[in-house]
Amino acid sequence: MIVVMRHMAPPEEVEAVTSRLSRAGFQVHLSQGVARTIIGVIGNDTKTRLPGMALEAMPGVEKVVPILQPYKLAGREFKPENTVIRIGEFTIGGEDIHVMAGPCAVENREQILESAYQVKQAGATMLRGGAFKPRTSPYSFQGLEEEGLKLLAEAREATGLPVVTEVMDPYTLHLVAEYADVLQIGARNMQNFHLLREVGKLEKPVLLKRGPSATIEEWILAAEYIMAGGNYNVMLCERGIRTFETYTRNTLDLSTVPVLKQLTHLPVIVDPSHGTGKWKLVQPMSRAAIAAGADGLIVEVHPNPSEALSDGPQSLNPENFAAMMGQISRIAEVMGRRMAGMPR
Ligand code: PEP
Ligand code: MN
Repeated sequence: MIVVMRHMAPPEEVEAVTSRLSRAGFQVHLSQGVARTIIGVIGNDTKTRLPGMALEAMPGVEKVVPILQPYKLAGREFKPENTVIRIGEFTIGGEDIHVMAGPCAVENREQILESAYQVKQAGATMLRGGAFKPRTSPYSFQGLEEEGLKLLAEAREATGLPVVTEVMDPYTLHLVAEYADVLQIGARNMQNFHLLREVGKLEKPVLLKRGPSATIEEWILAAEYIMAGGNYNVMLCERGIRTFETYTRNTLDLSTVPVLKQLTHLPVIVDPSHGTGKWKLVQPMSRAAIAAGADGLIVEVHPNPSEALSDGPQSLNPENFAAMMGQISRIAEVMGRRMAGMPR
């Protein structure tokens, strides 16, 4: 349920309502809009107990309305304004568009440093790169682990780019969080509820990828797990879903962008690399994602894709990445957005 306060209701009236709800054993979340305060009331028995509390009779209360969706904190009903997440000097979810770019995996010092300089040069604002890699086969390259995290930190030091890297389980979370600016939760872990709960205890921004077979509702509920722990810095990342189609690695579901924008207030990022599996499709799908209203992209870029240890076929080389950045900056302008890492 949410309690909508009257336009410009004074803080004492808001406080009277929230303390009454807390005393009754409900969890209370305040959403302070420009003109109006919305109080989210969370508890298993809101539907049965709240009507009896006659909250509408309290000064300043306009109405008490049920939340129709199964998620609450992540929903727009509860928080109508967009969530804007701060990452270092950047904000994501507002007017700016961010491109996170870099190799699928950190392979060695030279490769990650070269990638970082190249993507920064082209206008990326964050460096991606996996140190712990969730590979389908146990015989594939699994990542450099802590050594990879150290190399990412070195690349951040050299370029100033914040680092986005994947955390695969609760055991390595604190290690990864020491180095990462954004914790990526991979598609295979979208419903790893222990991991979601642990990440919810931190304040660090999270990039939550969509599970390959997850519905939009399941995905938003996964974000709700993180938010229920108190970490509201969640970005949702569409990275393609599994369908009957085999030509592309996954089917990039770009309609999720406007759907998520309606249902949630969280920033939406698109990954056209894993979404298609083919580098030739990355430029057109990046353009489409920005046109659909995404707040940013995460793109695989490798100094030499044909030699990549993972995901080479979907990785852009630096030239094609720079061309892609030029294309999307023009689309961003049409959309009334600005590219955070590029000159105006
Ligand atoms: C990745 O970003 O390299 C990755 C493994 O992504 P996903 O979890 O979307 O497959
Ligand atoms: Mn990859």
